[in-house]
Amino acid sequence: QKRRHVENSVANVKKTNKGKMDQNRMAPCLQLPLDNKLLENVIEKAKDWALMHGACMRSRTNLNKDVLQFAPFVLLPSTFPRREFKKAVEIQPILNELVHKVAHDYEFLSSSLKSTNTVDHFTRRLFEIYETVRKDGITQPTSLGLLRSDYLLNCDSGTIKQVEINTVASSFGGISTHLGHYHRYVLQELGRMDMIQNLPENHALQGLCQGMLEAWKLYNNEKAVIMFVVEDVTYNICDQRFHEFELRSQNPNVPVIRRNLTQISERAKLGSKKELILDDMEVGVIYFRAGYEPGHYHSENEWNARLLMERSRAIKCPSIYYHLAGTKKVQQALAKPGVLEKFLSPDKTSVVKEIFTGLYSLDKDEFGDRAVQMAIENPGHFVLKPQREGGGNNVYGDKVRTAVEAMKDSEERSAWILMERISPPMQLNYLVRPGDPNNGCPPLSDVVGELGIFGVVIGDSEKILVNKQVGHMLRTKLSTADEGGVAAGLGALDSPYLC
Ligand code: ADP
Ligand code: MG
Ligand code: MG
Repeated sequence: QKRRHVENSVANVKKTNKGKMDQNRMAPCLQLPLDNKLLENVIEKAKDWALMHGACMRSRTNLNKDVLQFAPFVLLPSTFPRREFKKAVEIQPILNELVHKVAHDYEFLSSSLKSTNTVDHFTRRLFEIYETVRKDGITQPTSLGLLRSDYLLNCDSGTIKQVEINTVASSFGGISTHLGHYHRYVLQELGRMDMIQNLPENHALQGLCQGMLEAWKLYNNEKAVIMFVVEDVTYNICDQRFHEFELRSQNPNVPVIRRNLTQISERAKLGSKKELILDDMEVGVIYFRAGYEPGHYHSENEWNARLLMERSRAIKCPSIYYHLAGTKKVQQALAKPGVLEKFLSPDKTSVVKEIFTGLYSLDKDEFGDRAVQMAIENPGHFVLKPQREGGGNNVYGDKVRTAVEAMKDSEERSAWILMERISPPMQLNYLVRPGDPNNGCPPLSDVVGELGIFGVVIGDSEKILVNKQVGHMLRTKLSTADEGGVAAGLGALDSPYLC
């Protein structure tokens, strides 16, 4: 009898393990692997499709600006639960409202960022710009927010959890809008027209650009231009140009210019009514695709340019306070008990709470000490994050312990936050990369996806004029990789297959 009991327990353990495996894994949209001949054939077409439709980036190794290569992508659309996709879409206007209100709450921003500002030079400089324009009086009360809220599915609950919300340079709306069509094409080539109905429509690019043009209209000067603030070298050029071309096609009367911070510092000035004048043009809307990391500011000149723009009448995407509202420290402050309630109705609060996961301050106080202890005891359960954007800045795994131990006794702690690590389910797919020796026939890989939902919000401290969800993006990485930024070279473009 004892033996039977043991056998039963083993069977039970096996069952639960199997159950867990099922939970940690989602079925791909098609039976895999594909037949080798078919795979080779469809990958060749897929690569050409990507090249011909601008799912491309500049190469980091071939510095010839005339050369593009396709961005890494997955052959098949990744399955994503329809219910959770719908939830992410529906929650976006609430998140837009939240970010907008947080951005306009000086007390909240300054108290949330106070400790971080003492040790994080970059965030402090951004905050100083905010203080300066506040003291002068804000010239342009209207802000344009082009936001992207990012999610991972959480294995345990099967529900989405927010990774972060981006308020500056939210990218890939352009390429992702085209990529939905790519997966339509691939399914068609695989003879699976019947599956196409499960690919959601995506109008992110149109929606984001419509937002920029609405802001331009509010600026109310027919001659004004839209200026993209860009890096010295733009690797993600197709995504940016898609925005530019879409703007030009929606309204050919609005000129679009691109300048880096150095050029702006050399050539921009304020007019008598604080118009931003650059090369004899008046800038109505400033769209930042750079300026979110210290490396974009080579000297005081670039900082002066940022301040000048902030002082101007131009409508900024983002304004400095929208930028600050998107910091990880503010995200963590919003997750403290009782805080969301200050900004949102009880109904909206409970919806937003559901997508939050554990976020902890590392400040030198009782709560911070507790978080330090948790991180040291269980480093694999957390991600350690500084106040940076653009990927590649976080700390994972055992390094969380080493890093937290190293900063335990210093104020440096306040520059970081600790976030519960979300473990998303994996699924099989083919990762297609430029120059990959296996490119003819890449192996099947275990991958995980991160969904991004785009939102547009326009308004000032008194009112919200525009508040919309406009589209989505999905990017996918090897399940063994910590991060999956496509621009950073770690992730692959994807689109959701709703199931
Ligand atoms: P960034 O602003 O640099 O994009 P993120 O907070 O989005 O910073 O982190 C970068 C990447 O790290 C994410 O895209 C995701 O792949 C991974 N990541 C971040 N937070 C978590 C988390 N809590 N759990 C699991 N992975 C995470
Ligand atoms: Mg970010
Ligand atoms: Mg991110």
